[in-house]
Amino acid sequence: MNNKGKKYLIVFDFDQTITDKDTEFSAIEYFTPDFYKENEHELYTQKDWLSFNNLLYTKMKEKGFNWEIIKKYYEDLNLSPKMEELFKFILEHQNNIDSVICTGNNKIVVETVLKKNKLDNIIRYKICNNSEFDNDNILKITYLNEKYEHCNDCQPFLCKSLAMDNFFEKHKRESYNKVIFIGDGSNDFCFSKHLNENDILFPRKNFSLYNILYNDNKKNKIKAEIHPWENGIQIVDVLKKLDF
Ligand SMILES: [Mg+2]
Ligand SMILES: [Zn+2]
Repeated sequence: MNNKGKKYLIVFDFDQTITDKDTEFSAIEYFTPDFYKENEHELYTQKDWLSFNNLLYTKMKEKGFNWEIIKKYYEDLNLSPKMEELFKFILEHQNNIDSVICTGNNKIVVETVLKKNKLDNIIRYKICNNSEFDNDNILKITYLNEKYEHCNDCQPFLCKSLAMDNFFEKHKRESYNKVIFIGDGSNDFCFSKHLNENDILFPRKNFSLYNILYNDNKKNKIKAEIHPWENGIQIVDVLKKLDF
């Protein structure tokens, strides 16, 4: 335990942070390339991601890809480079680190990947959309909470700042020594701005969040210390310097 007797909180984005590729985009591209091509623009500008996402699983089922096949695809996806080193580090310091995933992805997909990679016990808390199977065994996704309306930065399905505010109602932010946020996407910018001077931000190098900070010159909006990363070892190297 560090000298203040407080734990560190690591907040993980999921897609392209824990997993190297975006789970669902890559599944659409893999299983229904035509549908992907026809809707590529829609996909990236889609405001109502959940309806689109629900349509996607229906499409895949129509093409003959049932959940068992899609599940296997998710289980076989690679984690981001050397991420296992970071999880090893967290496990070694599990009395001093709490971990939470905060993602717009859904519970069943997130848990499938975590379980397969034996991460379900390392990452204690999961903030994600709800999902269940309908009568045709098609994955159906619903909003985690109607309360997650969009702020100016975020798409309607999830504002991570609001989601984390909700988390901090139960797990007091002051009870943590530092908040450490690891992400890659434009939807990680909002919560990045909510980190304070004492916190650490890890944007994935050359991905959207990094480009917003370094190419769109929004780095000055961030109060936290920033360490771009390309692999898990680089993250561990920074964490090792903290007081444990
Ligand atoms: Mg992401
Ligand atoms: Zn937001």
